[in-house]
Amino acid sequence: MFTRIARGASLEINQQSCTGCLRCARRCRRRVLGVTRREEGPRPVVVAIDNCKYCGKCARACPVGALSLTII
Ligand code: SF4
Ligand code: SF4
Repeated sequence: MFTRIARGASLEINQQSCTGCLRCARRCRRRVLGVTRREEGPRPVVVAIDNCKYCGKCARACPVGALSLTII
């Protein structure tokens, strides 16, 4: 799991179920998500959580439910 928390919300990426399709990163217009290169291929990474508006578009774009947005 990869989690970033800011201003009462968290974005969590389950690295075990993530396939690296990067739909989430492409969907985010606020550039909250970047890309890191791993041995198994590219993976999304939270790079600018303070820009997140908690719209949930990234989580809805994920075909395998690997990215979750939680308002806390
Ligand atoms: S919740 Fe919205 S603003 Fe935040 S990372 Fe996802 S798409 Fe971007
Ligand atoms: S959309 Fe889901 S499976 Fe695709 S890179 Fe993002 S978290 Fe991983």
